[in-house]
This record gives sequence, C-alpha cells and structure tokens, in this order.
Amino acid sequence: RQDAVGFPPVLDENESVLANSFDNTSLDTWSYYYTHGLHVAGTNRTMAEWTADRWNENGFTAHLTEYYVFLNYPVSHSLSLSLPSGTIYTPSLTEEVLAEDETSSYPNRVPTFHGYSFTGNASAEFVYVGRGQQVDFARLQALGVPLQGKIALSRYGGPFRGLKVKNAQEHGMVGAVLFIDPGDDGNITEANGYAAYPDGPARNPSSSQRGSVQFASIYPGDPTTPGYPSKRDSPRTGRSGVTPRIPSLPISWAEVVPLLAALDGWGTPGEQVNRTRWVGALNVSYSTGPAPGATISMSNVMNDTYTSIWNTIGIINGTRQDEVIVIGNHRDAWIVGGAADPNSGSAVMVELSKAFGALLRTGWQPRRTIVLCSWDAEEYGLVGSTEWVEEYIPWLTEAAVAYLNIDIATSGPNPNIFATPDLHDIAISTMKKVIYPYRGSTNSTLYDAWYSARMGRVGVLGSGSDYTSFLHRGISSIDMGSDAGPDDPVYHYHSNYDSYHWMTTFGDPGFVQHKAMGQYLSLLAYHLADDEIVPYNVNTFTQEMRHYLDALNQTIISNGASAEVDIAPLGEAIDIFDQAATALMTALASASTSPSTTSSAADAEYIDTLNHKLRDFQRGFTSQGGLPGREFYRHVVFAPGLDTGYEPVTFPGVTEQVQSGDLALAAEWVGKTRAGILRAAEVLRL
Ligand code: GLU
Ligand code: CA
Ligand code: ZN
Ligand code: ZN
Repeated sequence: RQDAVGFPPVLDENESVLANSFDNTSLDTWSYYYTHGLHVAGTNRTMAEWTADRWNENGFTAHLTEYYVFLNYPVSHSLSLSLPSGTIYTPSLTEEVLAEDETSSYPNRVPTFHGYSFTGNASAEFVYVGRGQQVDFARLQALGVPLQGKIALSRYGGPFRGLKVKNAQEHGMVGAVLFIDPGDDGNITEANGYAAYPDGPARNPSSSQRGSVQFASIYPGDPTTPGYPSKRDSPRTGRSGVTPRIPSLPISWAEVVPLLAALDGWGTPGEQVNRTRWVGALNVSYSTGPAPGATISMSNVMNDTYTSIWNTIGIINGTRQDEVIVIGNHRDAWIVGGAADPNSGSAVMVELSKAFGALLRTGWQPRRTIVLCSWDAEEYGLVGSTEWVEEYIPWLTEAAVAYLNIDIATSGPNPNIFATPDLHDIAISTMKKVIYPYRGSTNSTLYDAWYSARMGRVGVLGSGSDYTSFLHRGISSIDMGSDAGPDDPVYHYHSNYDSYHWMTTFGDPGFVQHKAMGQYLSLLAYHLADDEIVPYNVNTFTQEMRHYLDALNQTIISNGASAEVDIAPLGEAIDIFDQAATALMTALASASTSPSTTSSAADAEYIDTLNHKLRDFQRGFTSQGGLPGREFYRHVVFAPGLDTGYEPVTFPGVTEQVQSGDLALAAEWVGKTRAGILRAAEVLRL
C-alpha cells in the first residue's frame, strides 16, 4: 500500500450517498445501450435525447444544443499494390465479422476510413516514413530518400494521425496509408503465443484504426468556423488550412505486410535509419524504399456535407450562480460499439447523474452550479465541445471554476489523470477515497493503483479530448481515464472490436473499473462544486512552472540558444506569482478555519472574493493572444505540441520557437509568457 489513510476509506455522509449509488449492473445496462446503435457524429439524435431523459429522471434539467457543422462520411475506397513482377495485391480494408461479437456484423457497421479525409486518387511509388513526424521526414531527406510525388506508408502511434498526413502533404507526397504495428501492442501479441480476439487477449489481425486527420494542433472544432459557433446561417471559411489535401486510408497489420515487404532491400534498411520506433514487430526490414516500379493505387471517396450535431446539456443550479463546474464526455464513436471510447465514460455519466439525484433527494443543493455535457462529434476534432465553448464563452469566462473530462473511462486497469497544477492536490487526495480492485489486490484504492501505474505523477494536458477548448480559455481542467499496460488485453482503439463483447470479456468484466472511475469523478465533482472554499492549491502551480522552466532551460542549452534567449524574466515572473499564490493560500487557510455557520455576511463576501481569484487566475495566462501561427491556442504555459498533437509542450511560445530556430520570436515570447504569468499573479493578489 502506498498511502497512509487506511482501508477501507472513510467517507462522510454525502460522499457515501454518492459512492454507494454506483451499481455495476446499471453501468452494464447503460454500456449496452450506447454500444448497440450507430452513433458516428451527427447520426443519432435519439441517443442524445435518451441521455437527456436519463439525466432529467435523475434531477438534472437537460436539453439538447444543436450545431450545424462540416463533417464528411465514407462512400467508397480502394487500395492495391502492383509489383514489377506483375503481381497485384488488393487488401480488403475491412474488419472481419466475428460470430462472437454481434455488433461486428451489424449491417450499418462503419467502413474503415479517416474523418475529414480528402476525396481523391493517388497512384505512385511509396516510402515508409516511420511515425511520420517532422524529424522522421528530416531523416529521410538526409538519407536522400525521394518524397516528392510518392505515397507515405506510416506507422500509427506517437503523434496525432492528422499530423502524419500533414507532414506527408508538406513534403510533396500525394497520399498516405496508416497502419497498425503489433510492435505497439506490448507483450500481448500472437507472436508471443497469445490468441487473438475474440479467442484471446491479443489484437485481432484485421483490426484497423479509424480516426480524424484534421490538423488538430492548428485549431479544433468545425474547420469552417474558426473561433465562432456553427449555426445554420454562420459565415464559413475555407478549410484547407486544417484538413488534408491528399487522400489517406487506414490499414490493419495483417494487410500491410505485403506493402512493407515490397520495400525490403530498397532504400535504407530500418535498422540503419536510426530513429526510435522505426522498426516494428512485423516480419519485414522496415526499409524506407521506394522500390522502383512497386506502386500503390489508392482511392478515397467521401461525402462532404454540412449537418446537425447534438450536445446534451444537463444542469443543477447552485446557490452561487457565478460559480460553475462543467463535467463532459463525448458520446459519438467511430463505430457501432465504442464500449471504451467514449461510452465507458458515457455509462459513468448516467450513473453519476443518478448519484447526484440521490444526493438531491436528501435535500442537498450544491453551492456551485453543475453542468453535465454529452458532446457530439468529438471524434472529428472536438467539434461539439469547441462549438459550445465558442457560443458560451462570455458566460464561461465569467463563471467556470473547472472543467472535468472523462473520455475513455476504462480500456484497461491502469488509472491516469492529467490536470492543471491547481487541481493536483484535490485530484490526488480524492483517489484515496475510492476502492479499486487492482491486479488481484482487493484492499487497494484508486490512489494505490494510480501510484503504482504512474509513479505518482499527474500528467500535463496536451490535447486529444474535449478539455482542449476549456483549457485554452484559461479554465482549470482535468482529464481522467484508465488504460492497458503492456501485459493487459490489447485495446482495439477506433476499431469495430472496441465493442460491448470485448469490454465484458476482456476490458472490464463486471464493470468494476467503470464503477471506480465513476465514483472518483463524482467525489471530485462534489468537492469542487460544494466545498466552501474551492479546493485548489495554487502553490503547486508555482512548483510546476519551476519544473517547466528547468526543462526550457535545458532545451535552450541543447539548442545553443543561451545568448539569444534569456529566460531570467520568466524566473522573475514566477517569483512574483509565487508571492501572490503563497499569500492567497495563507489567507485561504485562515478563512477555512473560521466556522462558516457563525460567519457574517462580510466573511461570506470575503470567501467569495477568494474563490473568484481561484476561479479566474488562469484567464491571465490566456491574455496574450494566440501562439505563433495558431491563435486558438492561448495558454502561455501549456499547448499540444505543433508536431505531436497529443503530447504537451510547456511554455510553448518560447519552447517551440527555440526548437524551430526562430530565436527572435522565441525572445519575443519570453516577454509575452512573462506578461501572462504576471496577469495570473495579479488576479491571485489579495
Ligand atoms: N480523440 C480523437 C482522436 O484522438 C479526436 C482528437 C482531436 O481531434 O483532437 O482521434
Ligand atoms: Ca466554430
Ligand atoms: Zn474519445
Ligand atoms: Zn476516439
């Protein structure tokens, strides 16, 4: 055991009402509902209404909000390989129908395709480009591998898939094929003797990864309405800055083998490319190619359209209308199933509404307003949440205290949380209140599991789910979930086999992890919504910024930029932030020791003032306009990496300019970052 709080955890009365309301059987029922009907973005209004009905039954006031957005849907596709010998190989590009997994056979099952992909044909020789990051392309250029006019064959994993397509396009390539490599499946592979799904925990060889190829690190949301909500009559911009102009297709590991094998012996062998994760686990040499005369012909036909999407929004009013906690999960999936992504989170949200309903029946009313959101069209590019934030930003800027996101509540046993530093303390201490049977141990808490899986480290938010639009408007945010380790059943991400059958057989039989994650989200939301003093520790923000500054210093040294980029002004700004944060934490500690029942109106007003500082201070970090070339991303402390999409970069304005060699712009961003930190400090100052 890692923590010293004892087992089982001791909960107060309201916490017990919430936690005891969670029931594995009803989680199973909600999971079954969500995973047995097509709910690709914009296709299932009924499921949004069903969600509203459940939340209404449980005491929330729920309604739908509709947006009218650009989406595209698959019409047809094909791919074939022609070898100089005359041999032609035509992969099926389909996932096998499995008798054991009923939704894999649904007539409305979804083809393998990429959201926001380009309609077009390409026929060319091809090159293996590894993970498809800019460093991979730079290495290929150094090796003299021709890229112009070729098709990119890229391995999934690492950066967001849309950036793989973007980088290929920017190097003059004419198409992209993205494959799953079993080298990314940990130890649970057929090569290691495990049976494949549905017979065992290894990956089904036909599984393929759908997903959006929007250039997500530029801006998320409807590509045609950057910065403003998509209504029927909204003006529209072009979209080519954030969606590809070359066709792309996903392919399974089983079907990519002949393509990779055609490159064996051509270009540079994988071992000599000298890039991490270049060589995978398939029985080929991962040579760069191109192989003279070996060509891919591909065609991708999409129906580009404007269509309605539906967010479900449910509200419990608090006594303080100007303090709001927002809790969100997306509902749309790439497939009929979506048992982990996202509907493990959706099942949790229904059960959470039931838990808060039980608490309401005791006569409880939260101090702060609680808003539940079930987003549509996350998968295409965080569309439902981004359009909603763009519509309600004046109110959110005034009132939002926190945004809590749950996407994949569980795809395996290892819990994970990512949060802005102010939330770390409450996020960690709340984990100690949840029982979480973990790897055979029955007396462990969520905290124990998290600590052993993550070594006690809370992640930094990058992007990849619906917290993004909140974070970049300066709203404190947390994202939570649990996933598979290298020795756990392989999760079939964005595949037909992310199904109810997989979940109940391999992912979370008995809905044990669902229950724990739901109890955790409920208890965290409860404290954020109801504690008299918002339970934030802003000193943690100071400490984390000091770590980020150390990392930036290393980046500057390793890029030889010390003479041009002086970050001393950032250190000074953090010191000033530190003084304001420390003084505020001291004031909060003494305010919380005076009993609230006997406090005067003046005391109550004082507490509101302190709480509003905690609510508002991160808005200061977003006061400097957007980052270079991507004005959507405003937070001066965190951003998704330009060439990672998912992984964060800290002090992004400075860090990324140092990395790209634009040192004058880096120096300018030292000033802007400093100004953002000072704005935040000013909000905290008493
Ligand atoms: N969660 C989705 C994915 O990873 C969408 C992320 C995004 O568009 O930023 O594919
Ligand atoms: Ca928009
Ligand atoms: Zn998701
Ligand atoms: Zn997803």
